Amino acid sequence: MVTVGAAAFPAARPEAAPRRVTILGATGSIGTNTLSVIAERAGSFAVEAVTANTNAERLARAARTAGARLAVVADPAAYGDLKAALAGTGIAAAAGDDAVREAAERPADLVVGAIVGAAGLLPTYAAIRAGRQVAIANKECLVSAGRIFMRAAAERGVTIRPMDSEHNAIYQALGGRPIDEVEQIIITASGGPFRTWSRERMAAATPADALKHPNWSMGRKITIDSATLMNKGLEVIEAHHLFGAPTEKLDALVHPQSVVHGMVVFNDGAVMAGMGLPDMRVPIAHCLCWPETGPLAGRRLDLAELGSLTFERPDRARFPALNLARQALDTGDWATNILNAANEVAVAAFLGGRIGFLEIAGLVEQTIDRVSAQSVPAVPDSVEAAIALDREGREIASELVRMHRTR
Ligand code: NDP
Repeated sequence: MVTVGAAAFPAARPEAAPRRVTILGATGSIGTNTLSVIAERAGSFAVEAVTANTNAERLARAARTAGARLAVVADPAAYGDLKAALAGTGIAAAAGDDAVREAAERPADLVVGAIVGAAGLLPTYAAIRAGRQVAIANKECLVSAGRIFMRAAAERGVTIRPMDSEHNAIYQALGGRPIDEVEQIIITASGGPFRTWSRERMAAATPADALKHPNWSMGRKITIDSATLMNKGLEVIEAHHLFGAPTEKLDALVHPQSVVHGMVVFNDGAVMAGMGLPDMRVPIAHCLCWPETGPLAGRRLDLAELGSLTFERPDRARFPALNLARQALDTGDWATNILNAANEVAVAAFLGGRIGFLEIAGLVEQTIDRVSAQSVPAVPDSVEAAIALDREGREIASELVRMHRTR
């Protein structure tokens, strides 16, 4: 990443033993990229544990290649396959949600939170409570329970390293300067595959259309979030918690080239931009190597070859999810929690062909309205309370999907 602006990081540490890294969600897009960076920096890192949900074969392959000590599947039904695939390797196998949480708590220098969705809440939180340093890609943790996560991190002296490319760019552009010196934080969005589509055309979009992201190759859920721009909404909430920035200091801008990932406008008018080609290995390497910057092979940004960078304001009428997320942030922690739960249900329903593309945002809005009509929920003050609220949001959203289908 070419980062404009100085980053006030501590001096490089002396030669040390390899850093032990645990990867939660090791079979996904972020997990695989993390393992690829680790493989390129052999000698600098050692893998403690890797986890997945059901994909035992892929997890076993990743564990063997990385030389992990432990591999864990959340789904107990996948345990037999995992055990068989690891036979004779000396790598321990385990299964179940408790085993994933225990993997997150094991001694390690860094735990990478790369599970998709609110399923990542408990294990990522457990890593923080155990005092592990954590790199978070799993933005849903911060959207569902950001205040609880940030409080636990402060209590345990844990630095949460932002792995999401936009937040990583902003983190570097901030260079440790206080939020009081910042006028605005700008998160960029590619605009997704439907940036230039009419609303009528978007109404008929299929999952295959929505999964064709123009610039990034990512997991299915975040790719749909990018198409609705809910991803930017989730990222605004994520930035609020990570950087302690109030809503009015947070803005999103469409930038189709995905070269500028984030910008910080300081209160003297100076702007620092975090830039780089769209390659998740770059923010991943930053989180793994922090506070140093380690070498990473790959294409480099050539601005002359690119010629121009363009920016436009998001069309909030065609992409209402962005406003929904901002409103939820202004409403309070219960609303961002329900927003996230309903969005996960709506995205799964769209991918399963049960609702149309434009109905994703509608379903999220209706779920929030229903929850607040029943009685405004208490602000969740523990991760267990956040999970209980998330469950309530899912039930209501699932019910709305069922009603939609019988209409
Ligand atoms: P993927 O869908 O590619 O991978 C998800 C991972 O989580 C897999 O390892 C999966 O295991 C595991 N998982 C899924 N459900 C559970 C569960 N219930 N319990 C335990 N593990 C589970 O997702 P991505 O890598 O794309 O995204 C991961 C997170 O990072 C998301 O929060 C996303 O928003 C964020 N992010 C992703 C970016 C990207 O470039 N992909 C960029 C920035 C942020 P299995 O394979 O067995 O299903």
